[in-house]
Amino acid sequence: MKTLIIGGGLSGLYLAERLEAQGRAYHVLEARDRFGGRIMTERAGQGVFDMGPAWFWPGQPRIAALINRLGLRKFDQYAAGDLSFEDENGRVQRGYGFASMEGSWRLVGGLTGLTEALATRVPEAKRSLNAPVVRLERSGGRCRATLQDGSVVEADRIVLAMPPRIAAGLAFAPALPAGATQAMANVPTWMAGQAKAVAVYDSPFWREAGLSGDAMSRRGPMVEIHDASPAEQGPYALFGFIGVPPAARADTDRLKQAVQHQLVRLFGEAAAEPRALFVKDWAADPFTATSADAAPQYSHPAYGLPKAMQDLWDGNLIFAGTEVGQDFGGYIEGALEAAEAALLRLDEEAPAGL
Ligand SMILES: Cc1cc2nc3c(=O)[nH]c(=O)nc-3n(C[C@H](O)[C@H](O)[C@H](O)COP(=O)(O)OP(=O)(O)OC[C@H]3O[C@@H](n4cnc5c(N)ncnc54)[C@H](O)[C@@H]3O)c2cc1C
Repeated sequence: MKTLIIGGGLSGLYLAERLEAQGRAYHVLEARDRFGGRIMTERAGQGVFDMGPAWFWPGQPRIAALINRLGLRKFDQYAAGDLSFEDENGRVQRGYGFASMEGSWRLVGGLTGLTEALATRVPEAKRSLNAPVVRLERSGGRCRATLQDGSVVEADRIVLAMPPRIAAGLAFAPALPAGATQAMANVPTWMAGQAKAVAVYDSPFWREAGLSGDAMSRRGPMVEIHDASPAEQGPYALFGFIGVPPAARADTDRLKQAVQHQLVRLFGEAAAEPRALFVKDWAADPFTATSADAAPQYSHPAYGLPKAMQDLWDGNLIFAGTEVGQDFGGYIEGALEAAEAALLRLDEEAPAGL
């Protein structure tokens, strides 16, 4: 029984690594030219900077166990010092409030250390990059995935390890029940509408001034800012979530300028010339976001596997991906949780060892 995993983010890679450990037949198809999906980093000098997720938290058992098993290390989010607050007019107050992310953990070397470690445990012959799937078909008890270049990959079952909303845009033959497609399109993709900026500096001048790097702003473009420095040594960094809606932030050069000005208002002249300034707009990335994700999410959605997305194609079309995680949906822990649930469904279909 061969399983085709579509999507090489954390969920798909973790599922592949588990199937590999069990000696099962599988292949991972990833659309982008890199594995990791929403887990993505940029490099400046010796520093690695998370452009997607950065944090995980106590009480998330799977991610803790996985990083231990892979020999990776965590460290505490930097939170010592005062928080800054910027009002609508750009006036800055310091010592205001508390470090909102204190107690969060980060991964030494960035979260791509995790996805790279998983990818290297999947033999090269069982994983493909630059392989966007556009159509899925089931006939005669077999499943077929057609890639954008027209090539076809066959398998017995398919696991969609991607945001359900992205999967809803694929062509299915036979067509899925309307309720299933609707349910998929209705699942908001966690953080897909977000954009993140990371400014890298040679020295942590904010720490030296007694500031944690945490800031809240009503002026923008960044609304929430934190220290994003590596665990040890530099270069050091500040990152912020962009609060400007996707349609108004398409001009990256203008956005970068506005980010730089804001960092000077918040942290002083030392912030004027970062050695690197990275921006990643997830809302503009077609393998993460659709136009429906441009609308802001004000709270964490209730995730899990909707009834209408269960037992499709006689149980041979299975969902993984964090958005179907029952208890931790949306988080990296949820990506692992959803992969484990998909693995159980695969086990129901075939005895272990197949
Ligand atoms: C800015 C931002 C900040 C975040 N912060 C945090 C945080 O601090 N902590 C936390 O726990 N979570 C955070 N998250 C959420 C976290 O990133 C996700 O929970 C997790 O990465 C999801 O992994 P996944 O494998 O389920 O999905 P994805 O990472 O989205 O992987 C899906 C994969 O499918 C691929 N794909 C899509 N379409 C196709 C196709 N047609 N054919 C083939 N492949 C396809 C994609 O390229 C991608 O690699 C954040 C997300 C963002 C964007």
